[in-house]
Amino acid sequence: GSLTPYVPEAGPTLIIGSTGFIGRFVTEASLDSGRPTYILVRCGPTSPAKSAAAKLLQDKGATIIHGTINDREFMERVMRERKIEVVISAVGGESILDQLHLIEAIKNVGTIKRFFPSEFGHDIDRADPVEPGLSMYNGKRKIRRCIEQAEIPYTYICCNSIAAWPYHDNTHPADVLPPLDRFQIYGDGSVKAYFVAGSDIGKFTIATIDDDRTIKKSVHFRPPSNLLNINEMASLWEEKIGRVLPRVTVTEDDLLDRAKEMRIPQSVVAAFTHDIFIKGCQINFCLDKPTDVEVCSLYPKECFRSVNECFDDFIKKIADKNPKAISKPAASKNGIFVPKSDREPL
Ligand code: NDP
Repeated sequence: GSLTPYVPEAGPTLIIGSTGFIGRFVTEASLDSGRPTYILVRCGPTSPAKSAAAKLLQDKGATIIHGTINDREFMERVMRERKIEVVISAVGGESILDQLHLIEAIKNVGTIKRFFPSEFGHDIDRADPVEPGLSMYNGKRKIRRCIEQAEIPYTYICCNSIAAWPYHDNTHPADVLPPLDRFQIYGDGSVKAYFVAGSDIGKFTIATIDDDRTIKKSVHFRPPSNLLNINEMASLWEEKIGRVLPRVTVTEDDLLDRAKEMRIPQSVVAAFTHDIFIKGCQINFCLDKPTDVEVCSLYPKECFRSVNECFDDFIKKIADKNPKAISKPAASKNGIFVPKSDREPL
């Protein structure tokens, strides 16, 4: 459900990158909250999936505006004519610096009450991944400094990982199933990370918009119930599928080698995987800066979807495709699940 009830005076919100992975969650949450929601959709050749995504959001009440953030004058006109008060950008990794034009437009318009640049991951001023992850962070850092220099009211969303199996070569792991053949465990599998449902990334992002406590702040997502290491993730998934899968170790050097291959985006993801599951970049710092706020402290009554629930969604996807694929997990007499150790493929 929606965290913020319908606010009649909610300022018109423009979302960039709505057809993308993170942008879709944010846009759906904005529409759920009843905000007047405009989405910027690029013209030109696009995949049928992206056109369908834009159409779906339009059917739910979003107003489509065709254009690109690279056209500063156009963006200024859109913001003025539509009386936009909030701008949320969820452009992808390759477009981070395109936001320089957008910042210029926001500065010129001068009436934007809140800007969310494309962050939606780690605190990029603290985390220090190897290349090519570092280059993406340098782009995001540059965007932060420009926003701060222009004195635009901002919120940086540091939502950590998406709740899904953290494949080291896949940017959008929530779009694919967790493993059904074997687990790849990074290092000794003991370093914890926060796994947050996409819908919660959207919901809590939208909740911060009209919240004065989040102006010029980094909002960190640290729900204690969503803090797991990869061994725990593997056990949870085994419980869901009712089988034990082999665990293969991916060492620190393996991840660094993948990063060095400089394949985009896979090597970027390998660099982040190394930072998260070897170096512990999500948990190795305290929220001790005056600009840090934590989402559970801001909204203590609100629950996060658990990884358990998110894994149930994956099971449903498998069951919908092939109802016979999932054997009902065997439970022992005292109700504790005992996985079978057969390795039959589903
Ligand atoms: P996607 O690549 O899935 O989508 C990017 C969107 O931005 C697309 O809709 C694209 O439009 C649009 N876009 C790109 N450039 C422009 C432009 N110049 N003008 C207008 N629209 C533009 O992005 P992601 O969802 O993967 O990434 C968004 C953010 O989330 C990034 O900062 C990324 O680092 C972060 N992220 C975090 C994850 C996590 O686990 N925490 C996982 C994945 C991403 P078009 O359809 O025309 O290409």
